[in-house]
Amino acid sequence: MLDYHASPELLNGKVILVTGAGDGIGRQAALCYGGHGATVILLGKTVKKLEAVYDELLAQGSPEPAIIPLDLQGATRQHYLDMAETIKQQFGRLDGVLFNAGLLGVLGPFEMIGEDEWDKLMQVNVKSQFLMTQALLPLLKQSAPASLIYTSSGVGKQGRAYWGGYAVSKFATEGMMEVLADELENTGVRANCINPGATRTGMRARAYPGEDPATLRTPADIMPLYLYLMGNDSLNINGQSLDAQPDKARTRAKQ
Ligand code: NDP
Repeated sequence: MLDYHASPELLNGKVILVTGAGDGIGRQAALCYGGHGATVILLGKTVKKLEAVYDELLAQGSPEPAIIPLDLQGATRQHYLDMAETIKQQFGRLDGVLFNAGLLGVLGPFEMIGEDEWDKLMQVNVKSQFLMTQALLPLLKQSAPASLIYTSSGVGKQGRAYWGGYAVSKFATEGMMEVLADELENTGVRANCINPGATRTGMRARAYPGEDPATLRTPADIMPLYLYLMGNDSLNINGQSLDAQPDKARTRAKQ
């Protein structure tokens, strides 16, 4: 999928929400979607980072984006319902969501996982996606064809020692995607997962502090799959879990 070439107009007229849009892969996806014509709604925790992406989008000539500052850890059902209403009022449509925000948490032996740590991971990596999906589905169905992209990991397909709650949260994400994809068949809303593979970001550096980041692909390198699944070239793809770096998927240390 690294060789997919999107038309520059692929996302013209579409409104796309990206979570965790201030940093790492989410930041790059926001810039890339905006660069292909989408109006991007930037959701994240740190407003300063979102503002910087907002400015970059304007500077590259993309449609004017919007910012939704939200800490997924504390957000309630009402926050998501209010958010859906605001998007409906402001844009009248929503054509896609990239669920990208995620927490790595503390890596270590299963027996040492703290209950609070577990709850935090499940809240940010799983429950927020459940609540946000529920709140946004009515608008997405009205805007069909629409695309839901969830973010998985190598450890979301095969468990691995010391990856504890993070790995479990990615298995849950894969499961949520499969349930939704099956249910949404014939609604025009499709759901798929991306496993980014080892990518040069802050999270990867925290997971592998001894690794030379220069040996890794950058977020920009893995954008072809993010574009493909968000745009109308993938209308027949539903319920799939795809590797953004298929050539590395089996050889590199999993994350
Ligand atoms: P980063 O840590 O670089 O970025 C994570 C993003 O999520 C940040 O924008 C962060 O916002 C946001 N975020 C974290 N917690 C919250 C919260 N409570 N509320 C709102 N936003 C939040 O990670 P990556 O870009 O590396 O990862 C992106 C996704 O890809 C994740 O789901 C990750 O699990 C997955 N992934 C990454 C791999 C890699 O090698 N990089 C490999 C496999 C999967 P802020 O900066 O404001 O905290």
